[in-house]
Amino acid sequence: MTQLPTSTTRKLGLVIDLDTCVGCHACVIACKGWNTENYGAPLSDQDPYGAAPSGTFLNRVHSYEITPKTGPAQLVHFPKSCLHCEDAPCVTVCPTGASYKRVDDGIVLVNETDCIGCGLCAWACPYGAREMDKAAGVMKKCTLCVDRIYNENLPEIDREPACVRTCPAGARHFGDLGDPGSDVSQLVATRGGIDLMPEMGTKPVNKYLPPRPRDTWEQTDILAPFLTPVSETPQGFLGWLDRALDRL
Ligand code: SF4
Ligand code: SF4
Ligand code: SF4
Repeated sequence: MTQLPTSTTRKLGLVIDLDTCVGCHACVIACKGWNTENYGAPLSDQDPYGAAPSGTFLNRVHSYEITPKTGPAQLVHFPKSCLHCEDAPCVTVCPTGASYKRVDDGIVLVNETDCIGCGLCAWACPYGAREMDKAAGVMKKCTLCVDRIYNENLPEIDREPACVRTCPAGARHFGDLGDPGSDVSQLVATRGGIDLMPEMGTKPVNKYLPPRPRDTWEQTDILAPFLTPVSETPQGFLGWLDRALDRL
């Protein structure tokens, strides 16, 4: 049994925008790369080029088709990593103190030296956010890129999580969710950010921004701009193209 701090000075975490995530998996690859080359033991793969490949990932993206009560079906891409919960059951269940939550910034980490690989924390986490590294025999999880965000050897622009830095859609945001004036808190307030499975009582720090309903095809005719001719007698390049096509 490991104790949690009663409060933390900051609540660093991620805000993930389910409206703009395109499911490209760039964050998954950036996370795997950074955490294999830097913090702790590499994230191992088993049978990577075989029939049943598996491996350790600290961030995964799942895709679902949902059908809202009104409007068309839509695809939602759902990136999932540790949510750095305030009431983290993965910490309190740990028999060795290897899992802990930092008082200064609220990041939940695993001390690999003290981890005995019992797997209790993975069983306790309701989000499936912990992964046992089969090669190292220790539990792994999102570190919030603790070795990037304070790393003075990196240019200032790179002192944010690898997944946030990489996301081409700008769907991932990082900051202090304990500060109501921070950019991430403002974003959550403006967009109605939500907790994942609040009924579990874990008080996740990470927040998700819900997808907006899509327009129906009747509302959005994407071909409409192309249906009206630009000109009956095209000039310039279009005129040349028109005449050239006529000769075919
Ligand atoms: S998401 Fe899971 S692993 Fe992360 S702090 Fe919460 S309970 Fe622990
Ligand atoms: S914050 Fe770092 S460790 Fe966590 S999901 Fe992003 S890249 Fe991976
Ligand atoms: S990189 Fe960004 S857009 Fe791509 S899957 Fe990750 S969160 Fe979604």
